[in-house]
Amino acid sequence: MLSEFALIERYFAHSAVQRGDVALGVGDDAALLRVPPGVELAATVDTLIEGVHFLPGADPESLGHKALAVNLSDLAAMGAEPAWVSLALTLPGADERWLEGFARGFHALAGAHGVQLVGGDTTRGALSISVQAFGFVPAGEALRRSAARPGDLIYVTGTLGDAGLGLEAALGRLAAGSEQAAWLVGRLNRPTPRIAAGLALRGIAHAAIDISDGLRADLGHILAASGVGATVHVERLPLSPAFIALAGGEAGWEVALSAGDDYELCFTVPVAREAQLARALADFGCACTRIGVIEEQPGLRLLRASGSAFVPEAGGGYEHFRLQSDG
Ligand code: ADP
Ligand code: MG
Repeated sequence: MLSEFALIERYFAHSAVQRGDVALGVGDDAALLRVPPGVELAATVDTLIEGVHFLPGADPESLGHKALAVNLSDLAAMGAEPAWVSLALTLPGADERWLEGFARGFHALAGAHGVQLVGGDTTRGALSISVQAFGFVPAGEALRRSAARPGDLIYVTGTLGDAGLGLEAALGRLAAGSEQAAWLVGRLNRPTPRIAAGLALRGIAHAAIDISDGLRADLGHILAASGVGATVHVERLPLSPAFIALAGGEAGWEVALSAGDDYELCFTVPVAREAQLARALADFGCACTRIGVIEEQPGLRLLRASGSAFVPEAGGGYEHFRLQSDG
């Protein structure tokens, strides 16, 4: 059985990424980190608990990826460039096969974004993973939830509802085995943090948020923080081919509005910056779709193309999607 220190040494002490702004990384009582002048430090933490945020027995490599990805997504939503992470792991035991897979998924994503693991904590208990992530944003340029203004256009990156449908597939509630179901499960287990998009949005977007709890809830946070309302056109919600194949029509819109875990960005852009946004799109690394507009009148109005109101079943048919939304 690996000791705590041997475990740290083998799997976490040697980050593939070595940054010049890390004066001291893993190994002492605290890391020593240098924040460049003129920069604000964006700091965020997210915990994944077995049985709450992921299914018992989940693939460890995907977990390593996802635990980091959800934090990098928060930095992206602030327009921050990720720099450092720390990792607090609570493990029922030192399962080397699990640790090997987890570390591979974690380090691969960290390496892809030039992020250095600079410290953490390792304890014994029910499986739980906390990652704290730190990033840089030029002072005053962060994308805040409170910055949406009436007249702003509302956009989202990527496609919506894939992870929610992927959870249905993972739970065996969808026709399993299809290529589409496998792709949707991949969207659930290995979300792509929209870092390039977040950086490209600096100086263009007013407000931004990452969609972890579903578009309706997360856009709702922007509306509340900004003291505004919005209209969203449900036919414009971007849906993947796999999603459409398995959940077309009105029920699909409801999933796309309410299902969590997609980790796409929702952001608002003043009309005067539309051309600037179009030019920045090349730097996004993903599609981006205009879905509505910010308005003075509080509340969220959902409209069909015909102009009639789309009224989701209140707490109705998709209650099970909320399984994932309490993080
Ligand atoms: P302390 O008791 O001073 O908190 P620990 O014994 O917990 O130190 O950890 C020793 C070193 O290993 C520290 O630098 C800590 O940041 C690092 N560390 C512990 N667990 C992890 C982990 N899971 N990932 C990365 N670094 C870790
Ligand atoms: Mg400790």
